[in-house]
Amino acid sequence: MTRSILWFRRDLRLTDHPALLAAIRDAKHLLPIYIHAPDEDQPWRPGAASNWWLHNSLIALDRDLRKLGSGLIIAKGSSRLVIRKLAMKHRCQHLFFTHIPEPASIERDARVCRELTKAGVSCHQFHASQLSDGNSIRRLDGGSYRVFTPFWRALQKQGMLNRSPHPAPKSLPPQPDQVDSLDIDRLKLLPSTPWHRRFDDHWQPGEVGALKKLHGFLQQRVSGYHTGRDRPDLSETSRLSAHLHFGEISSVQIANGITARFGGTPVHANNDGASQYLRQLAWREFAIDLLKNNPNTDRLPFDSRFTDYPWRSDKQAKNLLQQWQRGQTGIPIVDAGMRELWQTGWMHNRVRMIVASLLSKNMGIHWLEGARWFWDTLIDADLANNSLGWQWSAGCGADAAPYFRIFNPVRQAERFDPSGDYIKHWLPELSALPTKRLYAPWTAKTSELFKAGIKLGNTYPIPIVDLQSSRKEALKRWEIVNRHSNKAGTK
Ligand SMILES: Cc1cc2nc3c(=O)[nH]c(=O)nc-3n(C[C@H](O)[C@H](O)[C@H](O)COP(=O)(O)OP(=O)(O)OC[C@H]3O[C@@H](n4cnc5c(N)ncnc54)[C@H](O)[C@@H]3O)c2cc1C
Repeated sequence: MTRSILWFRRDLRLTDHPALLAAIRDAKHLLPIYIHAPDEDQPWRPGAASNWWLHNSLIALDRDLRKLGSGLIIAKGSSRLVIRKLAMKHRCQHLFFTHIPEPASIERDARVCRELTKAGVSCHQFHASQLSDGNSIRRLDGGSYRVFTPFWRALQKQGMLNRSPHPAPKSLPPQPDQVDSLDIDRLKLLPSTPWHRRFDDHWQPGEVGALKKLHGFLQQRVSGYHTGRDRPDLSETSRLSAHLHFGEISSVQIANGITARFGGTPVHANNDGASQYLRQLAWREFAIDLLKNNPNTDRLPFDSRFTDYPWRSDKQAKNLLQQWQRGQTGIPIVDAGMRELWQTGWMHNRVRMIVASLLSKNMGIHWLEGARWFWDTLIDADLANNSLGWQWSAGCGADAAPYFRIFNPVRQAERFDPSGDYIKHWLPELSALPTKRLYAPWTAKTSELFKAGIKLGNTYPIPIVDLQSSRKEALKRWEIVNRHSNKAGTK
């Protein structure tokens, strides 16, 4: 009589779940468990917005498991000890789980498996969160990739999983008697302030919500993705990032949905928007690959010339950081993005790049400060993607925007929010300004501001950084660092 434990972590779904299918193959009893162990993710304990998502996703998973005759066992504490105790108490022979490609998880899983193997429980690990089979994509010389385009080409040739998603099981083996479980509320995942209440209007965590999002995207928007994906005023991207992070949907399901609709292969669909989308999805694979091969890049710059970069941390920088976090910089596209983040837990990719560039380049503040704020406030906070995005924006990453290319947030807003709808939506206090002034209200005439009911410094901030002079200072800082590293021969 086989008893198996299925350890749910970042695979909170029932479809395309090879570990679940393997676990139930010969099992008379199945123990599906989620263990809350945030300390095991140090130094990146999940942030407040992620915890809100997780709370709701666990409720959804429990509901889905119950429909199939099972239910989710909830526990907290050391994963190693909890699983060992559960396996011993219920005489389980097997542990099944899905690989998480992050340094802390890889170490933790190895510890858990060592301990269980000693206790006579066999561990079975599956790769189901990526488009590739989980092995690193290697260059011909054996090294790992640092630039996206060749990585993408290699992924297309070598490493793509060309498989259909596994169907969800129709029923599940029951749990044995007397299994202890905590109530999900006991995990205290919801933020103590009611900040997250508005998230409910925007998101439906869980597998059902993920499939609905994918369906809507495939039906209505993916064809226009190549032209609209950079426009924060249009809702043209998939908004699947949090569902992907928590594994409520797999990238194989997404790629498969695209080929089912448009034809083609999992890397090239017969539709421009869909093909561009598959390429964008591969950035996630690239981020995972980079972090796996460079496990310190969640904290240290990928480009070693930045090791001693003189980031600002004085009192004035602290104030600037706070204004940036609150969406009070006086630069509308930046404030709109930061308010979108605060109110919905998500921000459009283009705007993420703009706000990150302002913080790390114009303000000269360490990219990690921004990464930490995103970590706490993004519902899709993801170690690989966040580290890549921040290092890219700060200019110190792999395949990064060169340091000297500094986004001008006014030009960016004019180009990507041409009617100003995005800014007006998040900054209603500016909505009566003529569109041409909306991007830089400090350039408006007194009469225009008066007519729009705006008092700069009162109803909306005066810019906290001067875009021209801060750009020059950033370039000066960069030249000094570059000169020093050239002398020292660093690259
Ligand atoms: C400073 C900064 C920080 C970021 N932090 C995160 C983060 O914590 N978590 C996160 O998921 N993404 C992060 N991104 C990447 C990107 O902004 C989001 O993945 C995207 O905005 C999510 O929206 P979407 O699902 O509608 O994307 P879509 O455009 O619909 O893309 C589909 C999926 O592809 C992946 N993807 C798309 N663009 C990227 C990218 N540039 N890098 C890596 N993967 C990508 C995501 O999984 C995304 O869900 C960050 C980008 C920047 C510039």
